Amino acid sequence: MAGHEFARHLYIHVPFCARRCSYCDFSIAVRREVPVEGFTRALLGELDLRFPGSTPERWTVDTLYLGGGTPSRLGAGGIASLMEALRRRLRLADDAEVTIEANPDDVSSGAARVWRNAGISRLSLGAQSFDPNALAWMHRTHTSEQVVTAFDAARRAGIENISIDLIFALPPAIGREWNDDLHRAIALEPSHVSLYGLTVHERTPLARWRDRGDVAEAPDETYATEFLVAHAALTSAGFDHYEVSSYARQGARSRHNASYWSGRPWAGVGPAAHEFDGVRRRWNVGPYAQWLALVGAGRDPVAGEELLTEENRDAERVYLGLRTSSGLAATAAERSKAGRWVEEGWASLDGDMLRLTPEGWLRLDTLAAALT
Ligand code: SF4
Repeated sequence: MAGHEFARHLYIHVPFCARRCSYCDFSIAVRREVPVEGFTRALLGELDLRFPGSTPERWTVDTLYLGGGTPSRLGAGGIASLMEALRRRLRLADDAEVTIEANPDDVSSGAARVWRNAGISRLSLGAQSFDPNALAWMHRTHTSEQVVTAFDAARRAGIENISIDLIFALPPAIGREWNDDLHRAIALEPSHVSLYGLTVHERTPLARWRDRGDVAEAPDETYATEFLVAHAALTSAGFDHYEVSSYARQGARSRHNASYWSGRPWAGVGPAAHEFDGVRRRWNVGPYAQWLALVGAGRDPVAGEELLTEENRDAERVYLGLRTSSGLAATAAERSKAGRWVEEGWASLDGDMLRLTPEGWLRLDTLAAALT
């Protein structure tokens, strides 16, 4: 593999958010007014700098993922002009999966129609909850009603493939009813659901509240119970649990995310974007202003890179295998170590294939570490 100019998967990081959610430690830029033109110009500048001479004849992309941050903050016109500019540098395959992450308050009928016409085929909707108290506590900028209207607007615009993000294991004091949220999400009939357990990251509002004693994290049992309740509700509603955090209806697995889990190369542009060319990982500087200044000066905004060693590759083979329902093609030594997991109900062995159960996925990091 000569390098990333041939990567069939492209990630674009759009860092803007209206405000910081209480739990979020991502690299974001809080802006009331989004500098759509300046950002798009710099993004295209990075593409031209790092992929010189890329043309639709030379570069075909199977999956494009606009992540963030909140890409939907670029608005209807911002996404349309970005897509148009991208098409001058690459070709989207006929059946390309083109995802935009969106906050519900950005998804109007008009915006959804423009995105669909611009080639967006998949929407990842950051719902997180339908409970007004929980949404306010998380500093989300949308209401539960807006989740529903955004979802309907996207479907009416012809975006069939919609994923809903939900957060579980909120502090018990919030009084959030996890079952209600699950059933409201399922009732919308999304094609995909992604679940995230709340984690307290340092230097977030949530970490400050915890340190002041204003909030107590959910105990481990709540985390486990809510994950298992969600697993039961989603699988009985016909979703396939194909990756530790991801549930999909038939044919709706995220092809873009699958590229990360299968070790295929992907290109990444924008502040804090990561990239893997098949041999080497690299990542961009995170702060928006720094990225903008470097790209503006015609310099590669790289912050670091790492050549994968044999050891890294092996650890990755184990971790990536265990996190998906495809499982890990385990060596004899790994199968022997995992014998106890099968007895405990954390894994199953089918020939060489070692697959974690939901109970096992709750222990993913510990189990993966035990094999590496
Ligand atoms: S919208 Fe997403 S990226 Fe932005 S602050 Fe909230 S969780 Fe973080």
